[in-house]
Amino acid sequence: MERSVDSFAKELNAGFPGTAVFLGEPMRKHTTFRVGGAVSLFAEPKSLEAFVWAVRELKRLGIPCLIMGNGSNLLFSDGPHALAVLSTARLDTLRLSGDSLISGAGVLLSRLGSAALEACLTGLEFAHGIPGSLGGGIYMNAGAYGGELKDVVEAVTYLDGSGTLRTVSGADCGFAYRRSRFQDTDDAILSATIRLRPGDPKEIKAKMDDFSRRRREKQPLNFPSAGSTFKRPQGDYAARLIEEAGLKGLAVGGAQVSEKHAGFIINTGSATFEDIITLMDAVKSKVYLTSGVILEPEVRIIP
Ligand SMILES: Cc1cc2nc3c(=O)[nH]c(=O)nc-3n(C[C@H](O)[C@H](O)[C@H](O)COP(=O)(O)OP(=O)(O)OC[C@H]3O[C@@H](n4cnc5c(N)ncnc54)[C@H](O)[C@@H]3O)c2cc1C
Repeated sequence: MERSVDSFAKELNAGFPGTAVFLGEPMRKHTTFRVGGAVSLFAEPKSLEAFVWAVRELKRLGIPCLIMGNGSNLLFSDGPHALAVLSTARLDTLRLSGDSLISGAGVLLSRLGSAALEACLTGLEFAHGIPGSLGGGIYMNAGAYGGELKDVVEAVTYLDGSGTLRTVSGADCGFAYRRSRFQDTDDAILSATIRLRPGDPKEIKAKMDDFSRRRREKQPLNFPSAGSTFKRPQGDYAARLIEEAGLKGLAVGGAQVSEKHAGFIINTGSATFEDIITLMDAVKSKVYLTSGVILEPEVRIIP
């Protein structure tokens, strides 16, 4: 596989000069957890055309491929990984069309929120503080403070498993709590239309500021993490159950259940994948023993 990865890297560079391509790239450099070993190849195709070519070519060569956005919900093992990772960072076009934003998958949710405010459009305030991209947000149906991407996604354009471009309506994205149909496929989300409503910019700004303040107050934003480690169980909160089980502050190596927000596992500096997984298992077992609830990871694990 290494030979085909090398020749793929050369062709990508030759066909699309300016595309960033790295061999043996450590994923700790690209994830908010700051954990993860080397992948065979990491590339940031410089345009939509380059991205589509890269996905199709990797498929043709039989090289396993993972699409990533901002790496804020990903936990890679310490590797090495026989895997090509394509970042959507340069799929970053964004334009306004009536009350909609038409956006590349790599646009950060924070930028989308600011663009909505600038255009006096309401509906995206909840997403402003989520540190992911639009593509990752759609994949996860990311949400906060009573909103979810499912409420605003009108249509998604993606490349399906056979390399064909397709568009699906928001209603057909299979959205549910932290779920979308994309989790069951190897589709690559390329862009989406976000439908908003006209609103009062003062009210939009006030909501965004309030959500940001609440995040700063409640979340351990000064430590690397992937946000909430576990999904919210039916009718309860993972953080409440973890705290009730007496696990706040529990540590394994460099991984710790945050003292500030028990729903977050943080990297206190030198966490390995094993530290985090061992701590997650310990939390799951103790919460099950104390409450009978089985916690499910929200973070996507790449073993
Ligand atoms: C401090 C902090 C706070 C957070 N707060 C919240 C919150 O309030 N609400 C919430 O829902 N989440 C939250 N998160 C988690 C995370 O930000 C979201 O899940 C976000 O949607 C992930 O987007 P991303 O671009 O970083 O995706 P990544 O982490 O890069 O990827 C996540 C998954 O999506 C897939 N994926 C990404 N882009 C594409 C694409 N274009 N096509 C196909 N698949 C793709 C990846 O393969 C992976 O499986 C938080 C994380 C942190 C670190």
